[in-house]
Amino acid sequence: MSKYQVDKKGYYGPFGGAYIPEMLYPNVEELQSKYLEIMQEETFQQEFHALLKDYVGRPSPLYHAKRLSERYGANIFLKREDLNHTGAHKINNTVGQILLAERLGKKRIIAETGAGQHGVATATVCALKGLECVVYMGEVDIKRQAPNVARMKMMGAEVVAATSGSKTLKDATNEALRDWINNPVDTHYIIGSVVGPHPYPDLVARFQSIISEETKKQLEEKTGSTTPDYVLACVGGGSNAAGMFYHFLDDEQVKLIAVEAAGHGVDSGETAATTALGKDGVLHGSRSILMQTDDGQVVEPYSISAGLDYPGIGPQHAWLFKSGRGQYVSITDDEAMQAGLLLTKLEGIIPAIESSHALAHLEKMNFKGGENVVICLSGRGDKDLDNYMKYFGF
Ligand SMILES: *Cc1c(COP(=O)(O)O)cnc(C)c1O
Repeated sequence: MSKYQVDKKGYYGPFGGAYIPEMLYPNVEELQSKYLEIMQEETFQQEFHALLKDYVGRPSPLYHAKRLSERYGANIFLKREDLNHTGAHKINNTVGQILLAERLGKKRIIAETGAGQHGVATATVCALKGLECVVYMGEVDIKRQAPNVARMKMMGAEVVAATSGSKTLKDATNEALRDWINNPVDTHYIIGSVVGPHPYPDLVARFQSIISEETKKQLEEKTGSTTPDYVLACVGGGSNAAGMFYHFLDDEQVKLIAVEAAGHGVDSGETAATTALGKDGVLHGSRSILMQTDDGQVVEPYSISAGLDYPGIGPQHAWLFKSGRGQYVSITDDEAMQAGLLLTKLEGIIPAIESSHALAHLEKMNFKGGENVVICLSGRGDKDLDNYMKYFGF
């Protein structure tokens, strides 16, 4: 057992667990007691891998970015999650969880979404399986993210506005939890990142671990070794990073770099740099590190990239940070936007602004020459064109 993986009680070092209202115990305990057994069934694995291949379009390529490599003096490989169906890594998790829900006998799916990316990935697999889908979304986010709301509706999902509090992601999460408490028997709650009560962080990481599983094989073909010198990924809740790190956790010579969003700057008051500013606490059902005031109120996060705009990180990341296994850094809006434009100019790939954060960290690394570096290109930039246009004035 890896010391970086979840233990039998649902913890990563001091982080994790299931801090939930009593009303949710039956739902969460059902998942805890069944998820591993179901995921290890041969028929589950067959169906999961068949869908990843023919529906999602996996394996995603590991692309040696030659012009980017020349610029930085290292061999830079991009793990192309941007080429997945629906444009990002999130579909790996929702495909896995819809199969899990089916085998648990659930007929109805609920999810929360901020920018709408996880809502779309969930509505997609519900259409695929013909299951009822309800997505909770803050009223403010519904107005800001009209195209994603339209996508969800086209796929037959009901989008329910969360109208309390700041009318954004955390309010949508509260509404989804309330729904789950009221519908414990027929409903599965698909959480979109490696957050939430145990077993969610572990099960989402397992579904996303396909990213590093493929990377090892592809690296061996391209470099003769399964291990690179560095692996980089951006972190919102931390699911693409968890998947990118998964099969490298015990290869201690592989340096793991997680890139958070600094927004306008770590000390600007408008940031999502969780490890730089956060303290231990409980958020969305697990103990982790989160941005909070002295009296424990969660601080409203900010980043130009909606997917990184989260005040915490998953418990496994908190442990990788605390134990020193991972290096946690942050990148500002400006640095990310420049890195996104640079990749576009050098390689003809427009990255999601989330992924641009991971790319931007290359500027701060000093390579001796010839190191092998893998970056998780978590998503494509189509959804961010408005932002790129406004920022650069195209
Ligand atoms: C949602 C999203 C993220 C952030 O989520 P994680 O769970 O931290 O991976 C990163 N990149 C893209 C493209 C996203 O859509």
